[in-house]
Amino acid sequence: METVPLLEELAGEIRGCPKCRLAETRTCAVPGEGSASARIMFVGEGPGEKEDLSGRPFVGAAGQFLNLLLQEAGIERRDVFITNIVKCRPPQNRVPLLDEVAACNDYLMAQIAIIQPKFICPLGGPSLNTLLGPHLRITKVRCQVFRKSGILYIPLFHPAAALHRQELQSTLRADILKLKELIHREIREDEIIDLSPRAKPTRECAPSTVSQKSASEVASDNLSLF
Ligand code: SF4
Repeated sequence: METVPLLEELAGEIRGCPKCRLAETRTCAVPGEGSASARIMFVGEGPGEKEDLSGRPFVGAAGQFLNLLLQEAGIERRDVFITNIVKCRPPQNRVPLLDEVAACNDYLMAQIAIIQPKFICPLGGPSLNTLLGPHLRITKVRCQVFRKSGILYIPLFHPAAALHRQELQSTLRADILKLKELIHREIREDEIIDLSPRAKPTRECAPSTVSQKSASEVASDNLSLF
């Protein structure tokens, strides 16, 4: 099946999801949006107030700042896919709890399996720790290139953090310019920190359809790779 209907079907599942306590307080779940064939996927922490009200990711101040930085770097937002580690807003924008992240993880893994991006950019610490491990610190590893299961990861500061701490803005701006440079050239092996040297690339083992498999089944096919 084509990736667009697969993503739409998954988004429908997310919008009705009751799997964690965040379902009780959300206005709208926010599945994510962008190109179904995106080479770059940005993964933030969770929806904020504007995202919760609109059902769309990164539409508040942080999203506008990200749009500006992407525009300056010559990256079209419509060409990337943007989502979060949890699809529903945590109350008062608190950091998602571990059980909420775990409950939502199948959806993120299914999105990755369907889109098969070449690059994933975790935005901020919680996304970094969910995708690459709890031992990493965003301040230490931002803009470094990791490989896990055949996908390249380039962690970046979350744009909301850059809005709150002005000194981070120039760093994030420079990192997104570096991202633009990296996605347009061959990355040397000595530039990559390989976190899964024995894992098979996910690009070779995408599920054929979500219609025949639930999100959790699609994700469990791929979870071992993350
Ligand atoms: S945060 Fe994720 S797991 Fe929790 S209710 Fe929303 S979609 Fe479901």
